[in-house]
Amino acid sequence: MTSVVADSLTETKTDTQKPIATRKDGRIDLLGLSREDIRAALKSKGLDEKQAKLRTKQLWHWMYNRGAVAFDGMTDIAKTMRPWLTEHFVISRPEVVTMQISTDGTRKWLLKTDDGYDYEMVFIPDADRGTLCISSQIGCTLNCRFCNTGTMRLVRNLTVGEIVGQIMLARDSLDEWPSKPEGRLLTNVVMMGMGEPLYNFDNVRDALKLVMDGDGIALSRRRITLSTSGVVPMMARAGEEIGVNLAVSLHAVTKAVRDEIVPINKKYGIDELLAACAAYPGVNNARRITFEYVMLKDKNDSEEDARELVRLLQYYRLPAKVNLIPFNPWPNSPYECSTPERIARFSEIVFNAGISAPVRRTRGQDIMAACGQLKSAAERQSKRDSMITLS
Ligand code: SAH
Ligand code: SF4
Repeated sequence: MTSVVADSLTETKTDTQKPIATRKDGRIDLLGLSREDIRAALKSKGLDEKQAKLRTKQLWHWMYNRGAVAFDGMTDIAKTMRPWLTEHFVISRPEVVTMQISTDGTRKWLLKTDDGYDYEMVFIPDADRGTLCISSQIGCTLNCRFCNTGTMRLVRNLTVGEIVGQIMLARDSLDEWPSKPEGRLLTNVVMMGMGEPLYNFDNVRDALKLVMDGDGIALSRRRITLSTSGVVPMMARAGEEIGVNLAVSLHAVTKAVRDEIVPINKKYGIDELLAACAAYPGVNNARRITFEYVMLKDKNDSEEDARELVRLLQYYRLPAKVNLIPFNPWPNSPYECSTPERIARFSEIVFNAGISAPVRRTRGQDIMAACGQLKSAAERQSKRDSMITLS
């Protein structure tokens, strides 16, 4: 899978370049590569510097502005060169295993990597926006107790191409090429699918840079949100090197409860986390941090919890909004969702302190597309198989 291309390429490597992978068929996938990597890849197959530079510019435009997946239609590239490109390169998309559409319009895709692993992405249409929720890893090393993904073991990080490929695929499906500045269906991207994005930092950063690139998809960083369970040492770098909106999965206000439901808290506690939030580059009243708070019955949903949440956010002077997420159950999940009355009361207390605290509307539940319900079908299937064996 990760064999390295010819030596000539290694020679042209810069410090920041990783070896470029070739596929089993010997071709190089251009999706997810930086401009420098595309140039180096073209040179490794025989183009001179000047040609490689020109073709890189053209390929970039075709891939990220026009959504091209084949070289034949690239009309500004010499006709004789197009078969040569096809022989040596591809522009991939994730393989779609299934696509389901919920009664509320939410769409969920089950995708497959070249090496046979499943991952998921979800598109949530609203009247004024369309949000794509994408994955950063297959599985997750963290084991938040209320999260279905957390019950999977980590299989591997997704590559840059697999991360940006989710957005490319969604835009194919929504017929959103070429890129236009206004009237888009896919307006927002959230890294809230499977995995902890800050444990796959380099790939997530490089993929989001492609999404924000002005000559391509050109999505503003204000329309992208990265959600972390609280990987404190990576938060400053996320702000400096990516600069997108930050969402933090807080979910509890005492050490005992957060240790139990978000175990990374044992490593980086609530105070450390909130101090890192206060220091997040670019945070101000116009760009607030979102605190996600899953509502678990009799676990973290008391009036006292709500008041403590307010106290903490005020103590750290955090420009914050709180997103209350009704817990989405999954088979054998150890918690129940709080009652609607409890959720309303919690929201009211936070709101009365001057902090916005909307209750997130659950979407796509009928197709298991809601927050925390994502888990690879293969894994579900293997569980089912083992249950059958047991009974
Ligand atoms: N790993 C990152 C991003 C993926 S999870 C993180 O933890 O922030 C996206 C959001 O869904 C997180 O806030 C997560 O805590 C929440 N979530 C997970 N399982 C859930 C469930 N069963 N019900 C509701 N929200 C859930
Ligand atoms: Fe991983 Fe986020 Fe799920 Fe926690 S909530 S297990 S960090 S995906």
